[in-house]
Amino acid sequence: MERKFFVGGNWKMNGDKKFINELVECLKKCPIEQSVEVVVAPPTIYLDYTKSIVPQNVQVAAQNSYKVAKGAFTGEISPAMIKDIGIDWVIIGHSERRNVFGENDNLIAEKVAHALETGLSVIACIGEKLEEREAGQTEAVVFQQVKAIAGKIGEWKNVVIAYEPVWAIGTGKTATPQQAQEVHQKLREYIKKEISEKVAKEIRIIYGGSVTGANAKELAKEKDIDGFLVGGASLKPEFIDIIKANK
Ligand code: PEP
Repeated sequence: MERKFFVGGNWKMNGDKKFINELVECLKKCPIEQSVEVVVAPPTIYLDYTKSIVPQNVQVAAQNSYKVAKGAFTGEISPAMIKDIGIDWVIIGHSERRNVFGENDNLIAEKVAHALETGLSVIACIGEKLEEREAGQTEAVVFQQVKAIAGKIGEWKNVVIAYEPVWAIGTGKTATPQQAQEVHQKLREYIKKEISEKVAKEIRIIYGGSVTGANAKELAKEKDIDGFLVGGASLKPEFIDIIKANK
């Protein structure tokens, strides 16, 4: 089965209605090929609004969700609520959730499992910090992050893995295509060995970290890079060029 090219736009805590209108107008002008899946992730408060104005070839994702359906968890939202407003995707384990809000592998794995059980598809983010890369620990870190998730889920068909080296996120320092490909390939080998050959073949591993309209095409040429998770550039017209990077 061919892996469909996937481009996610993580708007993080940016934008207002006016800005979202402009961004969506820009997306509407872009002919999105059938061979690309596009998902944008607005701030929680604009999920419903964004969903109501995006064209039907653009899907919407929440940026986070909690590990249970409801209860006394002030400030959180649940996968059931995300589903309830007609949204099918959620990003879990983004490096900002891990490193600013202190989420650990176990919590992230529980969140991924609960989101999948509720029927959402998940963009599960992993990636090493600069000091871990410099200490030669990249593989160990990303394998452990995948292992934690694998310990809580049995079915991977609704999961996209986003490999996002923390040192490349929002820094303007993109991994080279070779650096990214090396990790993606090793991840696929790990998944083949520890999960299954089928999952390894079918799962999309996308890259994130300072992807731009200028560097996306070269990255997209790599065999194991199945798309992108884009932060900063997803707020700009160049997001359109990233959507077309597999051409
Ligand atoms: C991200 O937030 O997932 C990301 C990759 O950000 P940026 O593209 O700005 O580095």
